[in-house]
Amino acid sequence: MTRTHAPVSPPVTLTIAGSDSGGGAGIQADLKTIEAHDAFGTSAITATTAQNTTGVADINVLPTDHIAAQYDAVVDDFAVGAIKTGMLATTAVIETVTDCLAEFDGPVVVDPVMVAATGDRLLSEDAEAAYEGLFDHATLVTPNADEAELLTDRTVDSVDAAEAAGRDIVKLGADAALVKGGHIDGESVVDTLVIDESVTDATHTEGFSHPRVDTDATHGSGCTLSSAIAARLAHEETLTEAVAGGVAFMERAVRYGVDVGEGPGSVHHLV
Ligand code: PLP
Repeated sequence: MTRTHAPVSPPVTLTIAGSDSGGGAGIQADLKTIEAHDAFGTSAITATTAQNTTGVADINVLPTDHIAAQYDAVVDDFAVGAIKTGMLATTAVIETVTDCLAEFDGPVVVDPVMVAATGDRLLSEDAEAAYEGLFDHATLVTPNADEAELLTDRTVDSVDAAEAAGRDIVKLGADAALVKGGHIDGESVVDTLVIDESVTDATHTEGFSHPRVDTDATHGSGCTLSSAIAARLAHEETLTEAVAGGVAFMERAVRYGVDVGEGPGSVHHLV
């Protein structure tokens, strides 16, 4: 093959997350999403899951020193423009990633993955409290309503409750929270962004509304949203631009979901 163009330097985005052998969520969704945003995807894998569309059969959490070694290998060589975190599996992994991110001064999107859509746990039961340390390094935390409930001890069943939970999450140390509305009843989905006053002078709240797609092929939607926002931040979009663009990308990925196995389908990362 003859190369006809000089190499370009797309912004590098790092995902620290678990592998989904079924290809719809986790590292696989992250890298597809990052590349669809014209960014260069790198990864530090925290755990491998043996899973398909019907469920998670096995989880192998990688040694924390190996996770840190993957992180170091990437940041020592690449000018990483933004990082996202996904499945972190245990308290020890959350603490390792928190230590790694203490040295990073770019944007960090934390998707506090806890339970797969099939109901399988992806985070050990005692590990939720450990997220507070990680939130100190987070530009944005992107919980769904169930995760927001576990993080704040609130019932999150309305847009007002989502806003209150978002305010609690920024009080825990994050610069901003995007509480996703997919699990809250309503004709359309409203994702609620709360940005802390330390970033914007006064606390800023904004709703991102999009049509509810009638589908069960939503596996990977959270991973896709957080990766899209991270890739957009690596392209130096503002937080509100990145959230608006990420929500639109995710809504399209859900709308054009794929039916590839016996169980519910996955989102599709169309360019
Ligand atoms: N990470 C891994 C490895 C997963 O298997 C899953 C869901 O099964 C997730 C993250 C979260 O997926 P979603 O984007 O559907 O919230």
